Amino acid sequence: MATHLIVTSTEQLTPRLRRVWFRSNDLSAFDGNASTDRYVKLVFPKAGVVYPEPLDMKALRGTIPPEDMPVVRTYTALFPDVAAGTLAIDFVIHGDEGIAGPWAAAAQPGDTLLANGPGGGYRPDADADWYLLAGDESAAPAITAALADLPAEAVARVVILVDSPEHELELELPSGAVLTFVHREAGGDLVEAVRALDWLDGRVDAFVHGEGNAVMHGIRPYLLRERGLDRKQVSISGYWRQGRTEEGFRDWKSELAAAESAT
Ligand SMILES: Cc1cc2nc3c(=O)[nH]c(=O)nc-3n(C[C@H](O)[C@H](O)[C@H](O)COP(=O)(O)OP(=O)(O)OC[C@H]3O[C@@H](n4cnc5c(N)ncnc54)[C@H](O)[C@@H]3O)c2cc1C
Repeated sequence: MATHLIVTSTEQLTPRLRRVWFRSNDLSAFDGNASTDRYVKLVFPKAGVVYPEPLDMKALRGTIPPEDMPVVRTYTALFPDVAAGTLAIDFVIHGDEGIAGPWAAAAQPGDTLLANGPGGGYRPDADADWYLLAGDESAAPAITAALADLPAEAVARVVILVDSPEHELELELPSGAVLTFVHREAGGDLVEAVRALDWLDGRVDAFVHGEGNAVMHGIRPYLLRERGLDRKQVSISGYWRQGRTEEGFRDWKSELAAAESAT
């Protein structure tokens, strides 16, 4: 069953990152989900299409023309409090293109959304010696949640790509963490920044997400081949793809997986 969300307030965290707080009468779907990268599939109905109630994506598929299906967008769900019925989502505001970004830029208290999920697959490995957390603004929420899960003295290297110093966000860090912001507008590059980190001794647990090409073609080969990490030590995937909508990004991921399984 989808979760009904109602906007209660919004907060501009940085010029490109907007936190939207929601409440819900029923967040029981989040009970027992311990992943720090827990995400929901937000459902955006198409304007002018009347859908049967309750809106159920699975039941709807095949019963209406594909172009009338609601648009689905994936977002990290932060601070879900099942008892209080509250959670937040930090949206990257990336211009006029797309559905979810513009929705979030205009969101006002009282606006509603449907969310399916949550899914999720990562929680910091308690047995790791140190943590590598890296990504762009789209992964900053999942990195925020991972940092909150670490012990107070954990050793971590955190790298986040943002536009410029004005776009740096505040993060609560464990005492052994070092945070580096990389600035796009100054020619900064996430792949180079991760490669430039001093590599620490011991077993690393890596969480790296963001723009697909940088992450999958730049950082993944570095971690798996050059650093020789085991796949179990690495949570890595694209969260979006430059120049593609989420639908086009899903096709890109499928093509990449097919090409890799063929080699
Ligand atoms: C598991 C998971 C968790 C995610 N969590 C978050 C999250 O918490 N916050 C968040 O903001 N995003 C998150 N994302 C990424 C988000 O799903 C995509 O950015 C999505 O494409 C946004 O949808 P849209 O409707 O705004 O834009 P779309 O219609 O999908 O795309 C329109 C255009 O905008 C561009 N675009 C999309 N995203 C960005 C971006 N971040 N920066 C610059 N240009 C972009 C596309 O390349 C395209 O050209 C997550 C993705 C995954 C898979």
